[in-house]
Amino acid sequence: MTKLRLAIVGAGPAGIYAADILLKAEKSFDVSIDLFDALPAPYGLVRYGVAPDHPRIKGIINALREVLDRGDIRIFGNVKFGEDITLEDLKRHYNAVIFATGAVKDADLSIPGIELEGSYGAAEFVSWFDGHPDFPREWPLEAREVAVIGNGNVALDVSRILAKHADDLLVTEIPDNVYAGLKESPVTDVHVFGRRGPTSVKFTPLELRELGELRDVDMIVYDEDFDYDDAARAAVAGNKQVFVIDKVLNQWRQREVGQASRRLHLHFFAKPLEVLDDGNGHVGGFRFERTAPDGEGGVVGTGEIREIPIQAIYRAVGYFGSPLPGVPFDKKRGVIPNREGQVLVKDPDTGHSQQMYGVYATGWIKRGPVGLIGHTKSDAMETVRHLINDLGNWWTPEQPDEESVVKMLDERGIRYTDLDGWHNLDEHEKALGEAQGRTRIKVVPREEMVDISTGTEAAAQA
Ligand SMILES: Cc1cc2nc3c(=O)[nH]c(=O)nc-3n(C[C@H](O)[C@H](O)[C@H](O)COP(=O)(O)OP(=O)(O)OC[C@H]3O[C@@H](n4cnc5c(N)ncnc54)[C@H](O)[C@@H]3O)c2cc1C
Repeated sequence: MTKLRLAIVGAGPAGIYAADILLKAEKSFDVSIDLFDALPAPYGLVRYGVAPDHPRIKGIINALREVLDRGDIRIFGNVKFGEDITLEDLKRHYNAVIFATGAVKDADLSIPGIELEGSYGAAEFVSWFDGHPDFPREWPLEAREVAVIGNGNVALDVSRILAKHADDLLVTEIPDNVYAGLKESPVTDVHVFGRRGPTSVKFTPLELRELGELRDVDMIVYDEDFDYDDAARAAVAGNKQVFVIDKVLNQWRQREVGQASRRLHLHFFAKPLEVLDDGNGHVGGFRFERTAPDGEGGVVGTGEIREIPIQAIYRAVGYFGSPLPGVPFDKKRGVIPNREGQVLVKDPDTGHSQQMYGVYATGWIKRGPVGLIGHTKSDAMETVRHLINDLGNWWTPEQPDEESVVKMLDERGIRYTDLDGWHNLDEHEKALGEAQGRTRIKVVPREEMVDISTGTEAAAQA
């Protein structure tokens, strides 16, 4: 029987679902899958993006873990495609590859002053508070007044973590350094800015409502933002999600405020213009233009310019994928160009796109960084369907045996982690948490993660 030796690069939800769907699919060949990830632990943004105070969503890890624990997928963690292994390596050992490398970087916001000290991307901050090993362990939380630009769920995550009292995060899996950093934060006011009106936001009702439940934090909304036009009224009447968001915001308008030590302000109809310098190269203020509804669901500038003092600013205007060596990349969209998951490459002579045989994409790197974890499942189904149907066009590897991959990694001195390694780390983190009455405390430094996973000396001392 034919055997498909498949490499999947990226052990986030998209990669794990793709493996699971392929193994369960009806097919006329055997399958053996190796899952590679640059990080020593699997689960991608579920571990390193989803906010720590969202345990229900973090719990999706349990479902992903069940797939891995079945034992029919090999994992190689701490192996980075493009550095530790290349496309040529994969061609030598596999019949095909699925890239599921997601997106970890911030999209740009091109306004003057965005490069000042004290200006950050949401993705960097998320990586810090979620204990990503490749980001600095210290985060400068010195600002009393902070701006967050964006009206999606990531903007709400960032604002909530900034405004929330650190002690209320202690029940979560946040690493010790994150708790210590947030505990010292002098923040009093977090201002969230959106270009459009309350009926055009991208966040979801559940995430919005949660803000109103924060202890000792007043929700501040401004009456001037609720002078709806016909398009906004139609949106409230015609869309259940907008209806609920409008209801929640209007409830906050009626609330008594003034007692809390922290405030979270939602400013709508505010177009970012400039981050202002405090005179020392550091963020000192934020300048924006008031917008107004254009009657068709969009907004136009009114020419009215406003400024507020801030000492830090976070842009939460979207994530962006990163290019992979040897793999086509759409620089505008930050994705691997593809047709339903089949990767496309441009013919240099004709300029026409054609299928790059043996190479597939799924998840955020296929579709762009929008959508929930559940969406990566339907993505994976589509990609896997094509992979199965393309049987006649797979690569023919020189060394298809499973051991030759292990030999290659060993010869290169790569300290890879495997499924047992993940179990070791998982148990270790849970034990760290248990000692303090918490479910888990994340280990952050990469070397320590690898030591604990592989059971080496340093881990025993940790
Ligand atoms: C801040 C934030 C909060 C979110 N909250 C929620 C939520 O509450 N609910 C929800 O449903 N969704 C949420 N999402 C969306 C969800 O995280 C994504 O839909 C999902 O993670 C995308 O899956 P993916 O597998 O495509 O990418 P990822 O989860 O990013 O996984 C990609 C994997 O590829 C690996 N990788 C990347 N480059 C390489 C390389 N060169 N070599 C080897 N491996 C590599 C990465 O290490 C990573 O493990 C959130 C997203 C963000 C950013």
